[in-house]
Amino acid sequence: MISISPCQPLASNIPGKSFPKRKQNNIFRSFHDTYYYKMLPDKSTVKRTWVSYSPSIDRVYCIVCKLFGTTNGKTNSLSRERTNDWQHISTRLNEHESSIEHLNSVIRYSMYKNNRVDVNDLRLTSNTKLAENRETAFKAIVATLEDFSESIDRLYSSTANNLLKNITSFSFVTVMFLMNKIFDITTPLLTYLQTPSNDYIQALTMVDIADQRLSKLRTQESVDTILQESKEFSVKNELDEI
Ligand SMILES: [Zn+2]
Repeated sequence: MISISPCQPLASNIPGKSFPKRKQNNIFRSFHDTYYYKMLPDKSTVKRTWVSYSPSIDRVYCIVCKLFGTTNGKTNSLSRERTNDWQHISTRLNEHESSIEHLNSVIRYSMYKNNRVDVNDLRLTSNTKLAENRETAFKAIVATLEDFSESIDRLYSSTANNLLKNITSFSFVTVMFLMNKIFDITTPLLTYLQTPSNDYIQALTMVDIADQRLSKLRTQESVDTILQESKEFSVKNELDEI
């Protein structure tokens, strides 16, 4: 199991016993170790396990987004650029930890940590093992979101709650099952078409087969199968709206 630990030196650990000061908007400002904590509405504090301070460049960043972020998460300013905007740091930290990108990174990290799910595998299809992985991932995401939805931080909990409602709805699950079937048909074809040495006749045959299979997917029989599968999945995972 891996766990990530942010770099959180205290002022007393820094040479000179204080964080470097920078003149910003005519006032000398610096980082402060209180930023490692978040103040909750009831005035209690919790440690921000994602804030990492780099003494060598005097900037902060989100270690979770940096390591586990989606493409968006990795390019957001607190992971890619690292910030030293001390004037607005409080707002920036608050905004970051309530952002969808950050929540996504936390979910990906949690999935990796708890279930050893390789997040890159989730993009692949047509394999029983991966199908199981997807189900594990779904459970991990639901469990993580349930955790977050009980957070004392209202913005955080309402974001998690909305996401949770969305992904546990019967319509979402059904659409996922449908997409899965479509990808099962199109992925092998797309992979073949992208092979540099593909055979023209073989490619046309594969297009034809994919076309027939996609048409079959539109029949009442296939629709019934998909509905049945998503119903079983919903019952198995104790989803509400059936
Ligand atoms: Zn983040």
